[in-house]
Amino acid sequence: MNKYEILSIKPQEENASKVLIIYTGGTLGMVYDNQTGSLIPFRFEQITENIPELKRLNLELCILALPKPIDSSNVSPAIWTELVEIIEANYEKFQGFVVLHGTDTMAYSASALSFMIQNLKKPIVFTGAQLPIGIPRTDARENLITSIQIAGSTINRKAIVPEVCIYFNGRLLRGNRAKKRESSQFDAFDSENFPYLAEIGVNIDYNFLNIKILKPETETKFYTKTENNVGILKIFPGINASFVSNFFKQKDLKGVILETYGSGNALSDRWFLEELENAIKKGITILNVSQCTGGRVIMGKYQTSQKMKEIGVVSGTDMTLEAAITKLMWVLGNESTNPKELLEKEIAGELTNY
Ligand code: ASP
Repeated sequence: MNKYEILSIKPQEENASKVLIIYTGGTLGMVYDNQTGSLIPFRFEQITENIPELKRLNLELCILALPKPIDSSNVSPAIWTELVEIIEANYEKFQGFVVLHGTDTMAYSASALSFMIQNLKKPIVFTGAQLPIGIPRTDARENLITSIQIAGSTINRKAIVPEVCIYFNGRLLRGNRAKKRESSQFDAFDSENFPYLAEIGVNIDYNFLNIKILKPETETKFYTKTENNVGILKIFPGINASFVSNFFKQKDLKGVILETYGSGNALSDRWFLEELENAIKKGITILNVSQCTGGRVIMGKYQTSQKMKEIGVVSGTDMTLEAAITKLMWVLGNESTNPKELLEKEIAGELTNY
């Protein structure tokens, strides 16, 4: 862990909960450069200057910065692996974890971690901001402070939210159910297919019925491998045969998300179904996810999806695209004998089986 810059904030009280904050980059971590007036990534020592409230939280905070903070558009599976390794190495020492991350790909990273760290007993709360920490109207302050409080909260020494989640603008969302839906307003995230895990106003109102139950007897599992030879094929009216055929000709392609219409429908032209069937015969896993943000894929509801079901396309039910692609990467990276079974199974609350 000594390749990382680490900063500690100790509370007056002994035995306070310990939270590890991992800084990966994103808009949150920027301040004005006094000389040029432009926004630059801040030095991490400046965090308490910008948010002095951190010293009053009565929690022991450890802040670890990745060597090269990134705009989250540059996130990659290698960074997810690095996050898993950091959390695994510190898992016993801390009550909870906060990951400071750019908003653009936060839902992908939170989804990926929910599959790469299973049977969680501690919260991993992703957060970020729409305005940099150095700007007076920033949303970074509230997002960060509330995330830390959620990450450090326990009842009878057990975490209240043993899940990978996203906290943003008064809502705590399950990470693999969340989507970035807004780039200018503060309410950047929503989870259309799943209730909020908590709503935050004057109080933090946890939605205990929907938060995963902590199972002390199951061992937390950490996975570092993913399969990156995957792709997304979005269906649109007019999609043509040579485009689809070339898509499936890609060397080493192992898995594809098919982004379909409505409840999982796509064109029923023969050439299209043959492309899918040939790809499946070659060993490519195809997972059907809807372009709609609400509702679910029900293959066979319409004739236009019945044939896909017959040839072995897997239903993504009500998974978000972000959850589906990261689950596909995790499944294919760790299980090659029966990916279909694992894809259809609920692993981290990412889909509703009924
Ligand atoms: N482009 C930034 C990022 O995702 C946007 C943000 O942080 O809100 O890193």
